[in-house]
Amino acid sequence: MKNIANFQVDKEKCIGCGLCTKVCPGQLLYLDEDRKAATVEVDTLGWNGCWRCEHCLAVCPKGAIQILGKKPDDSLPPADPAQAAPMLDAVLANRHPCRRYLDKNVPKEILYDMISRLGNIPNGGNHMLLEYTVIDDKEQVKRFRKLVYDRMEELAAQGVYPAEFGEKVYRDMKRWTSLVRPDMLFCGAPQLVIPHGPRGRGECELDLVVACTQLDLQCAARGLGSSIISFPMGVLATMPEIRALLQIPENHYAPLIVGVGYPEIRYRRGSQRRVDPAKIHTLTFE
Ligand code: SF4
Ligand code: SF4
Repeated sequence: MKNIANFQVDKEKCIGCGLCTKVCPGQLLYLDEDRKAATVEVDTLGWNGCWRCEHCLAVCPKGAIQILGKKPDDSLPPADPAQAAPMLDAVLANRHPCRRYLDKNVPKEILYDMISRLGNIPNGGNHMLLEYTVIDDKEQVKRFRKLVYDRMEELAAQGVYPAEFGEKVYRDMKRWTSLVRPDMLFCGAPQLVIPHGPRGRGECELDLVVACTQLDLQCAARGLGSSIISFPMGVLATMPEIRALLQIPENHYAPLIVGVGYPEIRYRRGSQRRVDPAKIHTLTFE
């Protein structure tokens, strides 16, 4: 029997509770005649086979399941709500978009570890189609940024402006550059992460927003600065030869960049912004 998901159950540990069979979205698991977890033939990974969701591994109270080479002992334990909820509240309240960064790289092992954790984001149909283009060094980002700014100036001299903002916004941006921050496009971020995914497959357009948000929160939790920015991708749309340097496939959707780095300015307390109750609409049905 094919088992390309490499589903393995430790029959000594399995107590036949059936939880894994209930959570498996692919309906691949069942209890055999001995009430031990077993799998039907699995010859496909993805939507029509094993979703690679790891729900079975995660739900088993006895740690009896391995899947796709993953062992239960290597999983993080569930967060204690009594500790995790207030900590997450603090992270959410202290998530301030960073617009000034130190000229310093976040160590690459931290950067790529955060990106790898985006493998568990909620995503449409669990297709897991997102890819990540990374410029992980501040000097490389400076070079790329210069290319973009130089080309933007050339285009502006020809009267060509990004579709999202015309000449007025361009002029405003130039003014803000001297008043607010020197790099309006990339917020001075020393490292850039650009999530992208194929158009017309899965729910990539939405998944990208989720990925950016979760990366942003990971940065906040680690005391790093981050900025989710859309401005540069609109600018890059006017300069395909420079966008091509990012090596993002033509058929990929890439509307957002996450800038990452150490914040120049440290905030001392969280925002108290909450959703206006008037904007929360509770429904009841007879
Ligand atoms: S969840 Fe674990 S213990 Fe329960 S049936 Fe599945 S393998 Fe056995
Ligand atoms: S990884 Fe998901 S789809 Fe695959 S067997 Fe486990 S629960 Fe089912």
